[in-house]
Amino acid sequence: MGSVSLSNDDYRVLVAEDDPASRAATRLFLQRFGYRVGESQDGPGTLREASVGRYDLVVLDLGLPGLDGEEVLGRLRRDSALPVIVLTGRAEESERIRVLDLGADDYMVKPCSLPELEARIRAVLRRGQPVQPSSRIEHGDLVIDRSTHRVAVDGEIVELTPKEFHLLAFLAESPDQVFSREDLLEHVWGSTQEWQDPATVTEHIRRLRLKLEVDPSTPRWLHTVRGVGYRFADMGRHTP
Ligand code: CA
Repeated sequence: MGSVSLSNDDYRVLVAEDDPASRAATRLFLQRFGYRVGESQDGPGTLREASVGRYDLVVLDLGLPGLDGEEVLGRLRRDSALPVIVLTGRAEESERIRVLDLGADDYMVKPCSLPELEARIRAVLRRGQPVQPSSRIEHGDLVIDRSTHRVAVDGEIVELTPKEFHLLAFLAESPDQVFSREDLLEHVWGSTQEWQDPATVTEHIRRLRLKLEVDPSTPRWLHTVRGVGYRFADMGRHTP
């Protein structure tokens, strides 16, 4: 094993590559250097994995099935500050410029040398990530990503309506704080036509619990404060 000046143990890298052989080779190589490596093999899978997998960097093959690689890059860049190193088979200058314009942190033409890829990963990580105030809210297994509007529990995406999402994100942003149904109507529903009916809140909380909670009658996250309203708190895993 080569000696490295940087401890990579805490870095998580997503390798997005549809070719199984080069994906495995890249993964094994990076693991030798101590990176924790995840994999994806198509465009939608890459976006999903990147949004829930807590990665520090993505190595993105531009030729992925399911979604155009530049579209994947554009969305990654729009939705997160996650550094991206693009791998592409196309070496033209116009292609390189387009990819860099889309916000790639670095760029390599395939077939690329794995030692060089690792060096570039290290360089990008060392530059440090301009971590914007995170759009992610994390409470244990629950991850709420405000930029992508995705919610995952234990790595599984949970389908929420936009209002359910806003309600959950609003509550989870201020854990332990109690909000009345009127507060929630004002903040989450604003001036929409449902804003006057507190039963709307009750019903949305009920549906959120059904979708998120292992046992909706004994919620882990969404708690009723009798006579007052609701609060978000992480009470930890249910013990059977
Ligand atoms: Ca490919």
